[in-house]
Amino acid sequence: MEKIGVLGVEFNSLTTAQAVSAALSKDVAADNSAFIVTPNPEIVWLARSDPELKAAIAAAALVLPDGIGIIYGARILGTPLRGRVTGIGFAEECFEQLAAQGKSVFLLGAKPGVAETAGEKLAKRFRGLKIAGIHDGYFTDDDTVIGEINAANADFLLVCLGAPKQELWIYRNRAKLKVPLAACLGGALDVWAGTVKRAPRALQRLGLEWLYRLIKEPKRIGRMMSLPKFLFAVIGVRLRGKNG
Ligand code: UDP
Repeated sequence: MEKIGVLGVEFNSLTTAQAVSAALSKDVAADNSAFIVTPNPEIVWLARSDPELKAAIAAAALVLPDGIGIIYGARILGTPLRGRVTGIGFAEECFEQLAAQGKSVFLLGAKPGVAETAGEKLAKRFRGLKIAGIHDGYFTDDDTVIGEINAANADFLLVCLGAPKQELWIYRNRAKLKVPLAACLGGALDVWAGTVKRAPRALQRLGLEWLYRLIKEPKRIGRMMSLPKFLFAVIGVRLRGKNG
Protein backbone atom coordinates (compact mmCIF):
# COMPACT_ATOMS: atom_id res chain seq x y z
CA MET A 1 0.00 0.00 0.00
CA GLU A 2 1.33 3.41 -0.96
CA LYS A 3 2.46 5.53 1.98
CA ILE A 4 3.31 9.20 2.12
CA GLY A 5 5.36 10.72 4.92
CA VAL A 6 4.33 14.04 6.45
CA LEU A 7 6.75 15.27 9.13
CA GLY A 8 7.66 11.75 10.16
CA VAL A 9 4.15 10.25 10.12
CA GLU A 10 3.47 7.75 7.32
CA PHE A 11 -0.04 8.11 5.86
CA ASN A 12 -1.82 5.59 3.65
CA SER A 13 -2.79 7.22 0.38
CA LEU A 14 -6.31 5.86 -0.14
CA THR A 15 -9.84 7.00 -0.94
CA THR A 16 -12.46 6.40 1.76
CA ALA A 17 -13.80 3.37 -0.15
CA GLN A 18 -10.30 1.90 -0.49
CA ALA A 19 -9.61 2.51 3.20
CA VAL A 20 -12.83 0.71 4.16
CA SER A 21 -12.10 -2.32 2.02
CA ALA A 22 -8.52 -2.44 3.34
CA ALA A 23 -9.77 -2.17 6.94
CA LEU A 24 -12.35 -4.92 6.49
CA SER A 25 -10.01 -7.18 4.53
CA LYS A 26 -8.86 -10.51 5.90
CA ASP A 27 -5.25 -9.31 6.09
CA VAL A 28 -6.07 -6.63 8.63
CA ALA A 29 -8.47 -8.83 10.63
CA ALA A 30 -5.83 -11.57 10.80
CA ASP A 31 -3.73 -9.34 13.03
CA ASN A 32 -5.80 -9.62 16.21
CA SER A 33 -4.95 -6.18 17.54
CA ALA A 34 -5.22 -4.15 14.32
CA PHE A 35 -6.21 -0.54 14.79
CA ILE A 36 -6.76 2.51 12.64
CA VAL A 37 -5.82 6.10 13.39
CA THR A 38 -6.79 9.35 11.67
CA PRO A 39 -4.22 11.97 12.72
CA ASN A 40 -4.75 15.65 12.03
CA PRO A 41 -1.91 18.24 11.92
CA GLU A 42 -2.15 18.74 15.69
CA ILE A 43 -1.38 15.07 16.31
CA VAL A 44 1.41 14.96 13.73
CA TRP A 45 2.89 17.97 15.49
CA LEU A 46 2.56 16.33 18.92
CA ALA A 47 4.12 13.08 17.66
CA ARG A 48 7.31 14.96 16.77
CA SER A 49 8.05 15.43 20.45
CA ASP A 50 6.32 12.34 21.85
CA PRO A 51 8.09 9.09 20.87
CA GLU A 52 5.34 6.89 22.33
CA LEU A 53 2.67 8.65 20.28
CA LYS A 54 4.88 8.32 17.21
CA ALA A 55 5.29 4.59 17.90
CA ALA A 56 1.53 4.20 18.46
CA ILE A 57 0.78 5.77 15.08
CA ALA A 58 3.47 3.68 13.39
CA ALA A 59 1.92 0.51 14.88
CA ALA A 60 -1.49 1.25 13.30
CA ALA A 61 -2.71 -0.95 10.44
CA LEU A 62 -3.96 2.15 8.61
CA VAL A 63 -3.06 5.81 9.10
CA LEU A 64 -5.73 7.91 7.41
CA PRO A 65 -5.42 11.63 6.72
CA ASP A 66 -8.24 13.38 8.56
CA GLY A 67 -7.96 17.15 8.48
CA ILE A 68 -7.39 19.31 5.44
CA GLY A 69 -4.04 20.44 6.89
CA ILE A 70 -2.53 17.01 6.20
CA ILE A 71 -3.72 17.15 2.59
CA TYR A 72 -2.14 20.61 2.17
CA GLY A 73 1.00 19.46 3.96
CA ALA A 74 1.48 16.50 1.61
CA ARG A 75 0.82 18.75 -1.38
CA ILE A 76 3.36 21.32 -0.21
CA LEU A 77 5.89 18.51 0.21
CA GLY A 78 5.33 17.57 -3.44
CA THR A 79 3.87 14.16 -2.55
CA PRO A 80 0.08 14.63 -2.64
CA LEU A 81 -2.20 12.15 -0.90
CA ARG A 82 -5.12 10.60 -2.81
CA GLY A 83 -7.63 12.39 -0.63
CA ARG A 84 -8.92 13.22 2.78
CA VAL A 85 -10.51 10.37 4.72
CA THR A 86 -12.51 11.67 7.65
CA GLY A 87 -12.81 9.32 10.61
CA ILE A 88 -16.59 9.73 10.62
CA GLY A 89 -16.97 9.12 6.88
CA PHE A 90 -14.71 6.10 7.12
CA ALA A 91 -16.59 4.61 10.09
CA GLU A 92 -20.01 5.17 8.48
CA GLU A 93 -18.96 3.28 5.35
CA CYS A 94 -17.63 0.49 7.57
CA PHE A 95 -20.99 0.39 9.41
CA GLU A 96 -22.84 -0.07 6.13
CA GLN A 97 -20.81 -3.14 5.29
CA LEU A 98 -20.82 -4.52 8.83
CA ALA A 99 -24.61 -4.03 9.05
CA ALA A 100 -25.13 -5.99 5.84
CA GLN A 101 -23.25 -8.88 7.45
CA GLY A 102 -25.05 -8.58 10.81
CA LYS A 103 -21.78 -7.73 12.55
CA SER A 104 -21.33 -5.86 15.80
CA VAL A 105 -19.57 -2.82 17.23
CA PHE A 106 -18.44 -1.80 20.71
CA LEU A 107 -18.62 1.93 21.45
CA LEU A 108 -16.06 3.22 23.94
CA GLY A 109 -15.81 6.86 24.90
CA ALA A 110 -17.53 10.20 25.49
CA LYS A 111 -19.49 11.36 28.53
CA PRO A 112 -21.88 8.91 30.24
CA GLY A 113 -25.04 8.45 28.17
CA VAL A 114 -23.59 9.75 24.90
CA ALA A 115 -22.46 6.36 23.52
CA GLU A 116 -25.90 4.89 24.38
CA THR A 117 -27.67 7.56 22.33
CA ALA A 118 -25.12 7.20 19.51
CA GLY A 119 -25.63 3.43 19.56
CA GLU A 120 -29.42 3.74 19.32
CA LYS A 121 -29.15 6.16 16.40
CA LEU A 122 -26.54 4.07 14.58
CA ALA A 123 -28.58 0.87 14.98
CA LYS A 124 -31.61 2.64 13.45
CA ARG A 125 -29.62 4.15 10.61
CA PHE A 126 -27.59 1.05 9.75
CA ARG A 127 -30.20 -1.73 9.95
CA GLY A 128 -28.57 -4.99 10.93
CA LEU A 129 -25.68 -3.40 12.82
CA LYS A 130 -25.49 -4.84 16.32
CA ILE A 131 -24.31 -2.82 19.30
CA ALA A 132 -22.30 -5.41 21.24
CA GLY A 133 -21.46 -3.11 24.12
CA ILE A 134 -20.96 0.42 25.36
CA HIS A 135 -18.74 2.17 27.90
CA ASP A 136 -18.21 5.85 28.59
CA GLY A 137 -14.76 7.36 28.26
CA TYR A 138 -14.27 8.48 31.87
CA PHE A 139 -12.92 5.39 33.61
CA THR A 140 -9.85 4.72 35.70
CA ASP A 141 -9.60 0.93 35.67
CA ASP A 142 -8.45 -0.15 32.20
CA ASP A 143 -8.62 -3.86 32.94
CA THR A 144 -12.31 -3.84 33.87
CA VAL A 145 -13.16 -2.02 30.65
CA ILE A 146 -10.94 -4.34 28.59
CA GLY A 147 -12.70 -7.32 30.23
CA GLU A 148 -16.09 -5.90 29.17
CA ILE A 149 -14.87 -5.29 25.64
CA ASN A 150 -13.47 -8.81 25.31
CA ALA A 151 -16.62 -10.40 26.75
CA ALA A 152 -18.77 -8.51 24.22
CA ASN A 153 -17.01 -10.27 21.32
CA ALA A 154 -17.50 -7.33 18.97
CA ASP A 155 -16.25 -7.23 15.38
CA PHE A 156 -15.26 -3.57 15.52
CA LEU A 157 -14.24 -1.41 18.49
CA LEU A 158 -14.56 2.37 18.32
CA VAL A 159 -12.26 4.18 20.73
CA CYS A 160 -13.42 7.77 21.17
CA LEU A 161 -11.35 9.19 24.03
CA GLY A 162 -9.97 12.20 22.14
CA ALA A 163 -6.49 12.43 20.67
CA PRO A 164 -3.80 11.55 21.72
CA LYS A 165 -5.35 9.71 24.68
CA GLN A 166 -7.14 7.18 22.46
CA GLU A 167 -4.07 6.34 20.34
CA LEU A 168 -1.94 5.82 23.47
CA TRP A 169 -4.69 3.80 25.17
CA ILE A 170 -5.05 1.36 22.32
CA TYR A 171 -1.29 1.12 21.82
CA ARG A 172 -0.67 0.32 25.50
CA ASN A 173 -3.56 -2.15 25.74
CA ARG A 174 -3.61 -3.79 22.32
CA ALA A 175 -2.08 -7.06 23.52
CA LYS A 176 -4.95 -7.52 26.00
CA LEU A 177 -7.76 -6.53 23.63
CA LYS A 178 -9.48 -9.31 21.74
CA VAL A 179 -11.12 -7.51 18.83
CA PRO A 180 -10.34 -8.02 15.15
CA LEU A 181 -10.41 -4.30 14.40
CA ALA A 182 -10.44 -1.01 16.27
CA ALA A 183 -10.46 2.63 15.21
CA CYS A 184 -9.62 5.84 17.10
CA LEU A 185 -12.36 8.33 16.28
CA GLY A 186 -12.12 11.34 18.62
CA GLY A 187 -15.43 13.13 19.03
CA ALA A 188 -17.41 10.88 16.64
CA LEU A 189 -19.80 9.55 19.31
CA ASP A 190 -20.85 13.12 20.15
CA VAL A 191 -21.64 13.71 16.49
CA TRP A 192 -23.67 10.50 16.11
CA ALA A 193 -25.49 11.14 19.39
CA GLY A 194 -26.29 14.67 18.22
CA THR A 195 -24.65 16.37 21.23
CA VAL A 196 -22.17 18.08 18.89
CA LYS A 197 -23.10 19.17 15.39
CA ARG A 198 -20.85 18.63 12.39
CA ALA A 199 -20.09 21.68 10.29
CA PRO A 200 -22.56 22.44 7.48
CA ARG A 201 -21.76 20.45 4.33
CA ALA A 202 -20.59 23.54 2.42
CA LEU A 203 -17.92 24.20 5.07
CA GLN A 204 -16.97 20.50 5.13
CA ARG A 205 -16.47 20.57 1.36
CA LEU A 206 -14.26 23.66 1.67
CA GLY A 207 -12.16 21.88 4.30
CA LEU A 208 -13.21 24.46 6.89
CA GLU A 209 -14.62 22.08 9.51
CA TRP A 210 -11.84 23.16 11.87
CA LEU A 211 -12.96 26.80 11.61
CA TYR A 212 -16.55 25.82 12.49
CA ARG A 213 -15.32 23.89 15.54
CA LEU A 214 -13.17 26.82 16.58
CA ILE A 215 -16.14 29.19 16.42
CA LYS A 216 -18.27 26.73 18.43
CA GLU A 217 -15.51 25.98 20.96
CA PRO A 218 -13.15 28.99 21.14
CA LYS A 219 -11.12 27.27 23.88
CA ARG A 220 -9.68 25.03 21.14
CA ILE A 221 -7.52 27.96 19.98
CA GLY A 222 -4.57 26.81 22.12
CA ARG A 223 -4.62 23.34 20.56
CA MET A 224 -5.07 24.79 17.11
CA MET A 225 -1.93 26.89 17.33
CA SER A 226 -0.08 23.75 16.30
CA LEU A 227 -1.61 24.10 12.81
CA PRO A 228 0.48 27.13 11.75
CA LYS A 229 3.55 25.52 13.35
CA PHE A 230 2.84 22.35 11.37
CA LEU A 231 2.50 24.31 8.11
CA PHE A 232 5.68 26.33 8.71
CA ALA A 233 7.57 23.10 9.44
CA VAL A 234 6.22 21.52 6.25
CA ILE A 235 7.25 24.56 4.20
CA GLY A 236 10.69 24.48 5.87
CA VAL A 237 11.10 20.82 4.98
CA ARG A 238 10.11 21.51 1.37
CA LEU A 239 12.59 24.37 1.11
CA ARG A 240 15.37 22.27 2.60
CA GLY A 241 14.33 19.27 0.52
CA LYS A 242 14.22 16.80 3.40
CA ASN A 243 11.00 15.33 4.86
CA GLY A 244 11.52 14.68 8.56
N1 UDP B 1 -13.22 11.93 26.10
C1 UDP B 1 -13.34 10.75 26.80
N2 UDP B 1 -12.52 10.55 27.85
C2 UDP B 1 -11.57 11.44 28.24
C3 UDP B 1 -11.43 12.63 27.49
C4 UDP B 1 -12.28 12.83 26.42
O1 UDP B 1 -14.18 9.91 26.49
O2 UDP B 1 -10.86 11.17 29.20
C5 UDP B 1 -14.13 12.14 24.97
C6 UDP B 1 -14.92 13.43 25.01
O3 UDP B 1 -16.05 13.29 25.84
C7 UDP B 1 -15.26 13.60 23.55
C8 UDP B 1 -14.02 13.02 22.85
O4 UDP B 1 -13.37 12.21 23.81
O5 UDP B 1 -16.38 12.81 23.23
C9 UDP B 1 -13.02 14.07 22.41
O6 UDP B 1 -13.58 14.83 21.50
P1 UDP B 1 -12.72 15.91 20.72
O7 UDP B 1 -13.59 16.36 19.63
O8 UDP B 1 -12.13 16.88 21.65
O9 UDP B 1 -11.56 14.98 20.18
P2 UDP B 1 -10.56 15.16 19.02
O10 UDP B 1 -11.22 14.53 17.83
O11 UDP B 1 -10.30 16.62 18.83
O12 UDP B 1 -9.40 14.40 19.50
